[in-house]
Amino acid sequence: MYSEKSVSGKRDQRWQIVITHEIAHQWFGDAVTESDWDDVWLSEGFATYFTLLFTEHSKGKDEFVAGLKASREQISKYLQSNPDAPVVHNQLTDMSKVTSTLTYQKGAWTLHMLRTMIGDTNFQKGVQSYYKKYFNSNATTIDFRNEMEQASGANLQAFFSQWLYQTGMPKIKGHWSWSDKKMELTLTLEQTQAESFSFSLEVGITTEANGLPEIKKVSINSKKSTVTFQLKKKPVAVSLDPQTVLLAQFELSQK
Ligand SMILES: [Zn+2]
Repeated sequence: MYSEKSVSGKRDQRWQIVITHEIAHQWFGDAVTESDWDDVWLSEGFATYFTLLFTEHSKGKDEFVAGLKASREQISKYLQSNPDAPVVHNQLTDMSKVTSTLTYQKGAWTLHMLRTMIGDTNFQKGVQSYYKKYFNSNATTIDFRNEMEQASGANLQAFFSQWLYQTGMPKIKGHWSWSDKKMELTLTLEQTQAESFSFSLEVGITTEANGLPEIKKVSINSKKSTVTFQLKKKPVAVSLDPQTVLLAQFELSQK
């Protein structure tokens, strides 16, 4: 919410974010409203992500990524003291817990990961048809999932269940090592959080000093994994999630 005095003409950064968020609610929150408070992320996660998308459009990729990283940081902090909190509640009766950092930030991050997974075109197509179908009416998380499944042709049940109904977020700890003899990079990764998560992880491999990383995608389906890459040159740097597309904490060192 904001008052008429918030629009001051000073282009204050904080108020710009607040006003963009509230404008996004005209679509998601006002025109399409969640059927139940349990699904409040359909308003707050959407308004938060669409504010970030406006940042991407108006200020560019760097500001967008900075916003995503700040959001990821907030989620991780919140989960430390609220490890059992999901995004979508199940018949919540305590109305003081309806909205939280998770309904805003983890909801927004879920949309970001969904967009990354199904691609910009399918994401837009799905969000538009969801909006059209539920305009001036109410929707549930499952209604939204159905629209996104139709737009992308993907089964999104596991994705929605893992990021919205399950608690926590992945904490990935790993090492990388290089063998000159085999010309092989070995990456050992461990998920140290309590919950199980499956996801596609991007690994950035830089072989030239000051060069851009080459992105390789790895499918992670267990708590411990070892991945190897045959390379033509010894890497100078290896990084996890260089494009900021996964909601996780990362710790990687060279062995
Ligand atoms: Zn809001």
